[in-house]
Amino acid sequence: MFETTIAGSLPKPSWLAKPGVLWAPWALEGEALAEAKRDATILALKEQEDIGIDIVSDGEMSRQHFVHGFLEKIAGIDWAKRVRMGIRNNRYEADVPTVTGHLTRKDSVHATEAAISRAHTKRRLKFTLPGPMTIIDTIADGYYGDRIKMAMRFAELLNEEARELEALGCDVIQFDEPAFNAFTAEVAEWGVAALERAAQGLKCVTVVHICYGYGIKANIDWKSSLGQEWRQYEAVFPALAKSKIQQVSLECINSRAPVRLLGLLKGKDVLLGTIDVANDTAETPAQVADVLKSALPYVAPEKLFPCTNCGMAPMERKLARAKLKALVAGAALLRSELKI
Ligand code: ZN
Repeated sequence: MFETTIAGSLPKPSWLAKPGVLWAPWALEGEALAEAKRDATILALKEQEDIGIDIVSDGEMSRQHFVHGFLEKIAGIDWAKRVRMGIRNNRYEADVPTVTGHLTRKDSVHATEAAISRAHTKRRLKFTLPGPMTIIDTIADGYYGDRIKMAMRFAELLNEEARELEALGCDVIQFDEPAFNAFTAEVAEWGVAALERAAQGLKCVTVVHICYGYGIKANIDWKSSLGQEWRQYEAVFPALAKSKIQQVSLECINSRAPVRLLGLLKGKDVLLGTIDVANDTAETPAQVADVLKSALPYVAPEKLFPCTNCGMAPMERKLARAKLKALVAGAALLRSELKI
């Protein structure tokens, strides 16, 4: 009961990439970089185990960016053809590569780090991939001429990758879809269908992570414009409740998304964000337990998984450790309070 997990990324050691910087360039190259990624992955797993996280991840130590990390091995993309594009419904601008031909997955993308992770932990292993809607919102189209068609092609490629990760022993595959909160109408129109295509045929546990983004300025400004109650989840949850995706990971602590909206996710496991990734103070176990308690009227305890609001990549390592300890202690506190 109340099994803990994380949204995905953890801060990288300073010998791998510059700390405190989102999407920081690698500190090494060639074979030395490959070794450093391997070392960092094993360390990330060990720290999660020592802290007591039940369902662990590779900490995304081998990728710079949660979307481009997947795209790097996909053929049909011109990385030199960079376009400045408004993303997440024009919330902020980013320089993105361009699709210039038919998209194919020539090789596995994450097999190396998934195999390393599987070899070094006996705990259940979660692996994250970007979702199709978020991918097409982070790349320019110079070939398909139709965003949905391009999303469906990416969904097919994600499915190939996800099946391979499952075969390597991953227990949980998560698709990150922060774009769902930016394009709420499209979620029901085609976003969930694309997600289900990406997860088609998987026998492992499937998750979608939907958040309001990392704690960068553009996201903080956007959040402050959303009013007293954030209602994006209200638009998205009914379509997800009907989907085949088993778990939904979402942000909760310090968020203005009303907890009652969890009632719209009937039948799904909920990975509840009880750790803020956009502040500099570790939560207390009591705070974590309180957030979990606030969800109990809407989610059965066996369906509730304490989690972080989002990835922790840009955070100080020491702070991330303190926050994960609070996550585990908060879950234990609630178990003892409820005598379960
Ligand atoms: Zn997130």
